[in-house]
Amino acid sequence: MAACDHAACGAFFFSQDEESRMNQAQQAYIEHAVVDDAAATALPVIIVGAGPVGVHALKELRQSDPSLEVLIYGDEDYQPYNRVQLSGLLAGQFKVSDLSLASELWSESSANTRFLRTRITAIDPVNKTVTDWSGDQRRFSKLILATGSRPFIPAVAGVDLVGVYTFRDMADAEKLAARRVQSTHTVVLGAGLLGIEAARAMQRHNTRVTLVDHNPHPMFRQLDAKAGAMLAEELEARDIALLLGSGLRMLLGTRAVEGIVLRDGSCIACDTVVLATGIRPNRSLAQDAGLAFGRGITVNRRMQTSAEDVYAVGECCECDGEVFGIVAPGFEQASIAVRNIISKEAPTAYRSPQLATSLKVAGLSVFSMGGADHPASVRSFTWQRQGKYRRLTLIAGRIVSINAIGDWPELAALRDLSKKGKWIAPWRLWQFQSSGDLLPAGAANDVESWPAEAIVCNCNSVSAGQIRGAICAGSGTLATLTACTQAGSGCGSCQPLLQELLHDSSPRQKVAGTVPLNIAGFIALVLAVSGLAAYLPYPDTVQLPWRWDELWRNTLLKQISGFTVLGLCAVSLLLSLRKRIPKLQFGQFTHWRSAHVVLTTLALAALAVHTGFRLGDHLNMLLMITFLALVVAGCLLAFSIAWEHKLNPRQARTIRSAGLWSHLLFSWPLPALLGMHILKTYYF
Ligand SMILES: Cc1cc2nc3c(=O)[nH]c(=O)nc-3n(C[C@H](O)[C@H](O)[C@H](O)COP(=O)(O)OP(=O)(O)OC[C@H]3O[C@@H](n4cnc5c(N)ncnc54)[C@H](O)[C@@H]3O)c2cc1C
Repeated sequence: MAACDHAACGAFFFSQDEESRMNQAQQAYIEHAVVDDAAATALPVIIVGAGPVGVHALKELRQSDPSLEVLIYGDEDYQPYNRVQLSGLLAGQFKVSDLSLASELWSESSANTRFLRTRITAIDPVNKTVTDWSGDQRRFSKLILATGSRPFIPAVAGVDLVGVYTFRDMADAEKLAARRVQSTHTVVLGAGLLGIEAARAMQRHNTRVTLVDHNPHPMFRQLDAKAGAMLAEELEARDIALLLGSGLRMLLGTRAVEGIVLRDGSCIACDTVVLATGIRPNRSLAQDAGLAFGRGITVNRRMQTSAEDVYAVGECCECDGEVFGIVAPGFEQASIAVRNIISKEAPTAYRSPQLATSLKVAGLSVFSMGGADHPASVRSFTWQRQGKYRRLTLIAGRIVSINAIGDWPELAALRDLSKKGKWIAPWRLWQFQSSGDLLPAGAANDVESWPAEAIVCNCNSVSAGQIRGAICAGSGTLATLTACTQAGSGCGSCQPLLQELLHDSSPRQKVAGTVPLNIAGFIALVLAVSGLAAYLPYPDTVQLPWRWDELWRNTLLKQISGFTVLGLCAVSLLLSLRKRIPKLQFGQFTHWRSAHVVLTTLALAALAVHTGFRLGDHLNMLLMITFLALVVAGCLLAFSIAWEHKLNPRQARTIRSAGLWSHLLFSWPLPALLGMHILKTYYF
């Protein structure tokens, strides 16, 4: 039966197969354990809590040492399931079997793994025992606490009325599924991630949903005001009403809930309330056993509690003063704990991750990393267009937070840059503010993850979607793909991307026009480097028929050579724009590129005549150095293009984009410096 059918009748069940397999295994273990327990020499590792993190720890233990005996306890009336997908289950997007973690518990290699569906009521870290709900005691070699969290219930009147729900586990989801059918107006308290998910899941054609929060916008801790306002608009557009900026005073009703009263005095009539007002770590087992605790069970970076053989992972623990409410850090902690339990080598330390939240509100992507609150020393850069919003916050040139509404293909790469603490150059930030993209085209991430509308071939405006379509339709080689879509037939710089999409890792064909690239590039490089390192000498004697220093001393000759440099540079620049301006798409690109390189080399020769390759002072020196550096970067780019057939596509793409960006970097200040140079010469 489909999940939505279950949801409608308000009952979620695992398949009979899964249930009976687990029950048999459980029974077999109990019998086996009773016989063997006393004689056991190798004591099991015990995990308390069969949520996603506990199950992850179990999986890691089994992979690391299949011979290890592991016992996992869970106290819910269900087989272990993936809590993260509960809202999808309630909304009817998933079937209950999609959530099952049973396959993670039971596999061919799980002979030494046991799941016991009972509650642990006490732990004794000194004698190394756990006691379950029925009074049975078991000894452990190591204990992992993965007891998770419970919902926080605000201390206001009426929270115990009929029709008031929490949303934490499968039992809650079952009750909400049944309630949703009857509810005409559901109020969800708390517009954080869970509240939004609950609100979406509770929507039904005859169920009105209102989201209430005392903060001024939803996801207040993750999103800045602008992103929060856009999310609020989107939620409202999806028929979720929002009441923001006023906290809850009380719930109304005698037996069943009839409404809520906010602190500003307003009343909202409703028949159902979902509390999504936060969570609290389950730390009582540790607390009662005398282990250190704060908000959660205190652990060091090896995930050890104050008792050496007891570890805590997931939402129940507190590491470096932080408690997490999402699953990814828990998985990481479980892996670290297992490595430290298994390995005899140096301990592995856990480092707090940059937390990221990503959700889709009816098709709208919302992403947040690093929260919304930052000290005044940070710099923020934003970009907004057509319903999309992107904000980067940096401290000392490093990304500390990202907010995004709408798709942003660069996100994976940006998270990586942030994680590695990479410095972001100012010109990238200027580019971000004008285009919304921080990274050079193609460097964002794997081209395979680009959205369909992303342009792969700039010369011919061919999108990733068109290319994928052509590949599906049978274009299996670079040549056929180019013939079919025109992609790669312009400058050819997208050919490595096309090869990646084709899963073709063979070196590329040699590009056309490598001879001028190599020759003119070499001459220009020699001229530019000698211009930076030396200058043309003055004659030793004045007794010469022709004094070459007149070239850069005679005012008229200097003007002629100066305007020649300017003219050649201007034409060369125009040639390089061919790729960007669709109206200029005539003739072969390789000819334009060769002409660009040759003209620049001639401009360099004219510059030697104009200056004797003397760098000059102040502004002149800056102008000369910038120009010569531009040429050096251009030469390196020319060589990288001429030789990229010797490289694999990914290397070729990286080197080419590094060359291109350094070439562009030096070209930006040139017009201003040249303008000032001309002004200084003629005006002053
Ligand atoms: C509706 C919903 C949607 C969510 N969506 C996301 C999301 O999109 N992304 C995300 O990253 N996170 C999400 N989360 C949070 C995520 O589910 C949690 O971070 C994750 O489940 C934590 O895993 P855990 O194993 O540490 O704890 P839990 O999942 O809470 O598991 C702990 C288990 O231990 C059991 N237990 C406790 N005490 C005992 C005891 N004494 N004896 C035996 N068993 C015990 C509990 O009953 C529970 O089954 C969502 C949570 C909910 C409720």
